[in-house]
Amino acid sequence: MGFSAFVVDIDGVLLRGSEPVEGAPETVAELRRHGRVLFLTNNSTRSRAQHAEKLRTLGIEAREEEVLSSAYAAARYVAERHRRAYVIGERGLREELRRCGVGIGGRRCGAVVVGLDRRFTYGKLARALRHLLEGAELVATNRDRTLITEHGLIPGAGAVVAAVEVASGKRATVTGKPSEIMAKLVLERLGVEPSRVLLIGDKVETDIAMGRRLGMRTALVSEGARGQADHVLESITQVRSLL
Ligand SMILES: [Mg+2]
Repeated sequence: MGFSAFVVDIDGVLLRGSEPVEGAPETVAELRRHGRVLFLTNNSTRSRAQHAEKLRTLGIEAREEEVLSSAYAAARYVAERHRRAYVIGERGLREELRRCGVGIGGRRCGAVVVGLDRRFTYGKLARALRHLLEGAELVATNRDRTLITEHGLIPGAGAVVAAVEVASGKRATVTGKPSEIMAKLVLERLGVEPSRVLLIGDKVETDIAMGRRLGMRTALVSEGARGQADHVLESITQVRSLL
């Protein structure tokens, strides 16, 4: 179909938790023979470097500069507006914020940044609320309700974001898929006419919505949900039939 670049989601497409999807390494290698590959993930628990390293340890060729994540998008957004942020999130989000020059924690946080935090507590919620009541901006990496792991579904960042929104009455600015903020980063990174790009994801409300917003062709990796994307694949390996 003449694609010159591929935007590939990570969780649920290439990985299930810490396990690779069967055939994913070979398929990504084949995509590379047809064009550029950009890995696009809303998973904020890892930094771009950690995502690339994780993919490489599972046999999938990936470089840090080929990864765009909701954590990186949040860090870029916050760095342009604030000097310090209170963070509800994991190591990857903190690392991206630090690399963009944002101080973490302490007083006078201009932003509260919320991502997936598997050690989320009432105490963290209370501290976030205090900063928000003092005027901090609420920024969320993403609103994914769940995340697929090798043990099944676990609550996603959206569940944590909802708790902070309910407590504060503030609506978060979202930086991950399918936001305008992420759309700009993708276009800036790819430099390819969107109609020649195939976006492959496993979630309609984030991946497919992102591809549509950008004017890309979309492929949904899913056991169900036909009719929502241009192509529905049972596994990433079936993308070969579209090349
Ligand atoms: Mg996914």
